Amino acid sequence: MHVRKGDSVVVIAGKEKGKRGRVLRLVTEKDRVVIERINMVKRHTKPTQRNPRGGILEKEGSVNVSNVALWCGKCIAPRRARHEHNEGQKKRRVCIKCGTVFETT
Ligand SMILES: [Zn+2]
Repeated sequence: MHVRKGDSVVVIAGKEKGKRGRVLRLVTEKDRVVIERINMVKRHTKPTQRNPRGGILEKEGSVNVSNVALWCGKCIAPRRARHEHNEGQKKRRVCIKCGTVFETT
């Protein structure tokens, strides 16, 4: 997968095209990612302790990872990352255009 949890990404294909958000979860085995406020789906839920009334709950659905790209806040555009290896440092991902470091949490 080319994105990680916490990354800022943009949807580049599909019905949510052009929307941006942060990666909440990776579904590695299905090559899908869950992004905040993207692809909201309605779930009909039974009452639980946390949600005593139950009913319809809006939740993020997953999108195919090939439909998302890393978002570079400096370029203000979707960008690919290149891996940078520095002596004695952790591997970093940087924007191929402007060199901004994509922080990984
Ligand atoms: Zn950039």
